[in-house]
Amino acid sequence: MKKYGFGVDIGGTTCKIGLFEMNGTLLSDWEIKTNTENNGASILDDVATAIEGKMKEEGISKDEVQGIGVGVPGPVTADGTVLKCVNLGWGVFNVAEVLGKRTGFPVKAGNDANVAALGEMWQGGGKGYSDVVMVTLGTGVGGGIIVNGKIIAGSNGAGGEIGHIMVNEEETDVCGCGKKGCLEQYASATGIVRMAKKALATESRETTLKSLSELTAKDIFDAAKAGDAVAMELVEKLGEVLGSALAAVACVVNPEVFVIGGGVSKAGTILIDVTEKNFMDRTFHACRNAKFAMATLGNQAGMYGCVQMLLDM
Ligand SMILES: [Zn+2]
Repeated sequence: MKKYGFGVDIGGTTCKIGLFEMNGTLLSDWEIKTNTENNGASILDDVATAIEGKMKEEGISKDEVQGIGVGVPGPVTADGTVLKCVNLGWGVFNVAEVLGKRTGFPVKAGNDANVAALGEMWQGGGKGYSDVVMVTLGTGVGGGIIVNGKIIAGSNGAGGEIGHIMVNEEETDVCGCGKKGCLEQYASATGIVRMAKKALATESRETTLKSLSELTAKDIFDAAKAGDAVAMELVEKLGEVLGSALAAVACVVNPEVFVIGGGVSKAGTILIDVTEKNFMDRTFHACRNAKFAMATLGNQAGMYGCVQMLLDM
């Protein structure tokens, strides 16, 4: 094992880059702009230039670098082939191979949600476990499934797409993916607000939520914590939907721990409690000892996971 590794989390507007020691210590991190012009043709070259610049600045030689791990916002197969990244403009090509040729370093690539799961397993909320399901509740609902320390990427890189598990056959609104009734439509920040607005439209009881002009998921959790009964019912409903979806996931992969992250997870124990309760009520008896933990690495989880992928090279 060499001393250093680079983790690169490529997003639609910026690329987060971290210089790590291979023991998991983040030494420095910075961002560069993601240039999506010409179908993102210069993105990997920009990343390579940034890494070379950092090595020069820190006086790191090539033979001290274990490699580069890359997280990509789209499906990636186990060999590092990207199957279309709409918000980068990328089509189908092997990211690991292209960046490897450009830099001369070994490169591993993975889907951003999956590498975030690896990061949380390595140095975050899932530390000490090797069977981990990471659930990211943000604008959408992302997932990453790790079995025996390895990401389940699946045949089309779509393994762990927990957000698009169908949870309601009756739904008439359409999910971002084109289907109807996906978990994401109920458990993402936007989904929580969508459900709240629907409920409030016919709610006759007093609730502080009615006085808010722009309702957010945080408002709903805050009101529930303050004892607002209507808000608490909305949180309970969320716990039911999320807890039952995770109960089904547990029957497939039987994880040791569910790590909950993303903006919505800032709600804290109230979210964990309702989810865990509903999970316990619904899952198979032998899956009931699964733990629930908060993610701890925030938006750095992806960078950590990118470097974790380099450990077994
Ligand atoms: Zn969907």
